[in-house]
Amino acid sequence: MTSYEIRPAGATDTGNVRESNQDMYLAKGELLAVADGMGGANGGETASRVAIDALEAAFPDDPTVDSLVDAVRAANRAVWEQAQSDPELRGMGTTIAVVARVNDAGDEHLTVVNVGDSRVYRLRDGQLSQLSSDHSLVADLIKIGAVSEADARTHPDRHVLTQAVGVAPDVEPYVATTDLDRGDRLLLCSDGLTNEVDDDEIARALAAASDPREAADHLVQLAKDNGGHDNITTVVVDIA
Ligand code: MN
Repeated sequence: MTSYEIRPAGATDTGNVRESNQDMYLAKGELLAVADGMGGANGGETASRVAIDALEAAFPDDPTVDSLVDAVRAANRAVWEQAQSDPELRGMGTTIAVVARVNDAGDEHLTVVNVGDSRVYRLRDGQLSQLSSDHSLVADLIKIGAVSEADARTHPDRHVLTQAVGVAPDVEPYVATTDLDRGDRLLLCSDGLTNEVDDDEIARALAAASDPREAADHLVQLAKDNGGHDNITTVVVDIA
């Protein structure tokens, strides 16, 4: 018995500079995810694909917060094990940002799980808020007040992650659970969007689009117009 409808649309693009697209997304049904792979040879593409496939395989029919976190841990193990088994893939890893509806004693909630710096935002009543929490060096520096949010955008170490999927046998994902409301519009994205398009511009684009498809495509185009230095992935979700 579900009372909310989840309407997703995803878009991904290599961008203007990179030769391959190492991002991957999942935008069907109840499970939404973005992964941004890294690693030489074919490591980046492999890591994001293995992570998304393992996440989907481990996703249960009636998810809870714990089982969603377990599915992300399973994705981590799958990437880790493949990296250990193939010298060419050693050191590969990926971010992951996941959103799913969970049932908690009959109450519907939205659970956000992330590892790395792919993000989840929510636009509600015109206000944009970030529901995920970056596992990055600059995010830690912002938390202790050593760097301002404005300076973080140009910090030389802004790409340094403090956690990623597949680079260690286990991970400690960030987990947040929130309510959901008709009219909410969610965005999952890789850093190829957030490094090119600031939060104000993201909020305006999300608010202006008539549906998730238009929003996802328009955000990718904005990132390309602003430079497109990295792969760009967006999943936009309407709660109806
Ligand atoms: Mn990226």
